[in-house]
Amino acid sequence: MNISNNEIGWNFDNTYLNLPEIFLSKINPVKVSSPELIIFNENLSNDLNLDFKSNSDTEIAKIFAGNVLPNGSECIAQAYAGHQFGYFTVLGDGRAVLLGEHTNKENNKFDIQLKGSGKTPYSRNGDGRAALGPMLREYLISEAMHGLNIPTTRALAVVKTGEKVFREKEMDGAILTRIASSHIRIGTFQYAAMQGKKDILEKLLNYTMKRHHPEILENKGQNKAIQIIEKLIEKQISLVVNWMRVGFIHGVLNTDNVSLAGETIDYGPCSYMDYYDPKTVFSSIDHQGRYSFNNQEIITHWNISRFAETLIPLINNDEDKAIKIGSKIIDSFGDKFKSQWLKMMKNKLGLINDIPNDEKLIFKFLNWMENNRVDYTNTFLYLMNSQNNNDAHYKSKTFQNIYAEWKNRIRKNKCSEKEVIKIMASNNPYYIPRNHIVEKSLYEATINNNMKEFNSLIQLYKNPYKKLENNANYQQPSSFEFTKKYQTFCGT
Ligand code: AMP
Ligand code: MG
Repeated sequence: MNISNNEIGWNFDNTYLNLPEIFLSKINPVKVSSPELIIFNENLSNDLNLDFKSNSDTEIAKIFAGNVLPNGSECIAQAYAGHQFGYFTVLGDGRAVLLGEHTNKENNKFDIQLKGSGKTPYSRNGDGRAALGPMLREYLISEAMHGLNIPTTRALAVVKTGEKVFREKEMDGAILTRIASSHIRIGTFQYAAMQGKKDILEKLLNYTMKRHHPEILENKGQNKAIQIIEKLIEKQISLVVNWMRVGFIHGVLNTDNVSLAGETIDYGPCSYMDYYDPKTVFSSIDHQGRYSFNNQEIITHWNISRFAETLIPLINNDEDKAIKIGSKIIDSFGDKFKSQWLKMMKNKLGLINDIPNDEKLIFKFLNWMENNRVDYTNTFLYLMNSQNNNDAHYKSKTFQNIYAEWKNRIRKNKCSEKEVIKIMASNNPYYIPRNHIVEKSLYEATINNNMKEFNSLIQLYKNPYKKLENNANYQQPSSFEFTKKYQTFCGT
């Protein structure tokens, strides 16, 4: 089968292959029997400067099923390790194949990876495959993340394979095409460090700097390992604080799921929280609440500590000295996080200048939401005067008191109300993926082969900060009963 691959505009330069051999295995996707295109991301394809106009859906499906390889691709599975729920394990792409690194006209580089593309040398006991439901879920949640202006890997396509996968029951198999600035993970550094060879670690560090922080390479003065730890702290704090801004719970923040590019990666048991409760966990396997909403700060701190450990040999030849230097940087995490988190919460509440007691006021709101099981997203919209006022919670005396205090505080801003609303509006989304709505659209898509609702959600989440008429039901939280029983899964 010959697909007019040339006109698509692939522009591969596969630099990962220049790393030492131990970092990868050359392997092609395993062909599937009947590829069928379920969804394709036209906007993203345009951003990548890829042009599929002369290709039929059948041809596109063959490409994103891995049956026909793009011109210039050199397929690999990447090796990595990771702490999963605190336990160190050697991992690797067990069900993913990187087609290659594509560069668009703006000179931005993107990994194009098929997820669910068959067994690799890292599959362990897995079948290398993925089911349609979880792949559509990743598509929807990651595209919503992008719409919320939060760094994330993205989804270019989902293709049904025409084959069944066996999980707790038989399911339709599918492959997701994931686009990422890179797939370098903390776990990749852990994998490099466990080789016990300084030059291997150094090669990965240099590669990462070149790809994500060329400015460090130019800064000859300071130790490079230290600089990259500092960069990762910055990026991960910004990422997690943004998640907390919109109520996102990643669900499985293992070190293999933390990207050096600072993007949200590995959408498994993730979800968006409705009722504010810092202890919220939806993941079916997270019995201790290790990855609960609020724990995301502590666990990110822990993950970055594991990252810093891998770099000890590159910080200083004297191990004790290196540990001392590394620890000092890691110890700065807490204060840095707190200050970014406060800034974010102040933006959500429209508290512009620094005034003593702002933090107290923030916690009054949060505690009230928690104690009264109130929706996180809608409470901020209520303050912006954008939410209908029928919810009895907002009529309660306790809330009215906090509201009055907030109104008073807002008057002390040294800017106009219009400016305040503008800041609040760009921090408080109207539409987040509501769990019951997501699940219903996935049920329709996977059980009834009906993509209508799914496609409407994709449209809706493109502009979540803009209020639309007649869409109030998309702002409704799931019922409390639904939320209590709701569980999410790793998507294997
Ligand atoms: P994740 O939960 O997606 O971060 O995956 C953890 C590890 O398990 C990674 O190394 C995956 O490649 C691997 N894995 C997950 N599902 C499968 C599967 N169905 N077959 C083989 N490996 C898998
Ligand atoms: Mg992972």
